[in-house]
Amino acid sequence: MANNGKIGVTTENIFPVIKQFLYSDHEIFLRELVANAVDATQKMKALSLCGEYKGEIGDISVKVELDEKEKTLKIIDEGIGMTEEEVDKYINQIAFSSAGEFLEKYKDQMGSIIGHFGLGFYSAFMVSEKVTIDTLSWKEGSAAVKWTCDGSPEYSMEASQKKDRGTVITLYLDKDSEEYAAKTRIRELLDKYCKFMPVPVIFGKKQEWKDGKYVDTDEDDVVNNIDPIWTKAPSDLKDEDYMTFYKALYPMDEEPLFHIHLNVDYPFNLTGVLYFPKIKEHTAILKNKIQLYCNQMFVTDHVDNIVPEFLTMLHGVIDSPDIPLNVSRSYLQSDSNVKKISTYITKKVADRLEQIFKEQREQLENKWDNIKFFIEYGMLTEEKFCERALNFALFKNTDGKYFGFEDYRKAIETSQTDKDKKVVYLYATDVEGQYPFIEAAKNKGYDVLLMDCDIDSHYINLLESKIADSRFARVDSDSVDKLIPQEEQVKPELSEDKKKELDELIKSALPEGNEYYVEARNLGETAEALVITQSEFMRRYREMSALGGGMNFYGQMPQSYNVLVNMENPLIQQIVESGDKESELLHQLADLALLSNGMLKGKALAEFISRSRKLLETK
Ligand code: ADP
Repeated sequence: MANNGKIGVTTENIFPVIKQFLYSDHEIFLRELVANAVDATQKMKALSLCGEYKGEIGDISVKVELDEKEKTLKIIDEGIGMTEEEVDKYINQIAFSSAGEFLEKYKDQMGSIIGHFGLGFYSAFMVSEKVTIDTLSWKEGSAAVKWTCDGSPEYSMEASQKKDRGTVITLYLDKDSEEYAAKTRIRELLDKYCKFMPVPVIFGKKQEWKDGKYVDTDEDDVVNNIDPIWTKAPSDLKDEDYMTFYKALYPMDEEPLFHIHLNVDYPFNLTGVLYFPKIKEHTAILKNKIQLYCNQMFVTDHVDNIVPEFLTMLHGVIDSPDIPLNVSRSYLQSDSNVKKISTYITKKVADRLEQIFKEQREQLENKWDNIKFFIEYGMLTEEKFCERALNFALFKNTDGKYFGFEDYRKAIETSQTDKDKKVVYLYATDVEGQYPFIEAAKNKGYDVLLMDCDIDSHYINLLESKIADSRFARVDSDSVDKLIPQEEQVKPELSEDKKKELDELIKSALPEGNEYYVEARNLGETAEALVITQSEFMRRYREMSALGGGMNFYGQMPQSYNVLVNMENPLIQQIVESGDKESELLHQLADLALLSNGMLKGKALAEFISRSRKLLETK
């Protein structure tokens, strides 16, 4: 039956093209060949299951064999095999011409899409100077065939000696691909691409430590887990199973916080398990830890076109045959299936968080600090997620207590509603630094939230627009009486001259380089004499521009502060009366106000300390 021919190919010689275009992703050849072998094996199992094949097939597996010396690699299966006609049809005609068309069509964007697209069997030529197929079909009466091709469009077909059903693909690795003639490299590729394929893949024997070295045992080394967790029903799984699977995926990582099992078969097919990792330093977030599979075959760990950006912070596995892989990235983003998938995953993540909020509140509170950045970032970047998250996001106050948004509102509504009927959410960004202000607010019966994440200035703006009748104010943005204005206070009446005098007097005791707005107030006899505050508006814009939100104008302005002078305080009255810029009392009061804001440093601090000592001694 020997027969020679020319492969039905549209481009004169496609091999140089394959090699040239695919240089960066040569390694996927192994995935393609093992996937074909797995396919053929599964088809065989299906034939046996439905009774079309009468014999026993038992536990059949795929084997990968490497001869490091000869530089040959074999992929061996006991699947359905091919008849001579099938080799002609599937290998000589279709596969090749479709590869040709494909290359022709996507020439320009090859680099970006090739990682997602297997050229199937022909990818073997990316690494081989010669490839043979030895195959015997399961069909009764078939003759075994041997197909050989040396990388030119010429192939040969002849009778084969093969006795058992199935296919052996032999690669004669070329000079440029000698790296694949190493067991460690093949092992690495099998780990990367075949770890969860649905049929056992064997690579050599398991080894044991004996007489000071590793030696082969009799046991086959199966490289894959054929039924990974995402293929099972959630009801059959325990928390430990999810943990164990996580450890297998990311052996070096800390335990995740929560998991989500994805499982949908209409209108698209998708399974998977996602994990919330512990986010400590969000500057060090590792993205692209989600692995994308297609029927248990690893495709990529770049899912950034498939899920919204904030979800790329999650870890885990998504498996879907419905994500088109042979298209460019820009196409992927506009694909309606991909959009549906993205919406579905976002919804599932929100569902799960809401469920945890309702059923495992304590757990959510315990883990909140590590998950907060993820949720806030998601709320800032995905409208839909934001709407859902308003139902499960938490606030943390400066005492370390957690609240759902609704509960918090109820808790503060009575005492923190201002004269315009807005509920004022007070917050601090630094418990130590703003301590005196926090204490003052608490003494007045207010609650103070902690907002210490560096995206919080954006987050606060978002919340103001999402929470009806709300206003956020940092606890040191005004004196405690003014934070939540209830009614107009009577301002002290001062002539322009007096105002100017007061202005000069107070400024003389404050450090240079900043701008100060001195304001006389009647705050009551026992209230603080001097309070330094920074306007909420200015501070927020300065912080946002520092984060890079445009608005650089604010970033370049000198720091500006409001200085409230309590004209009813007896000490202030004393100072104003004397008008003495050198007065120890004036400097002591100014320094105390600066100290409350963490603004008293270096020499000024030392002076304050020695002055305080002196004042004590004179008592
Ligand atoms: P694809 O797998 O995308 O169809 P391939 O070029 O990889 O494209 O393979 C073409 C066809 O050759 C397959 O669809 C299958 O029918 C046949 N084939 C490839 N490898 C094997 C194998 N190991 N056993 C049986 N048939 C195979």
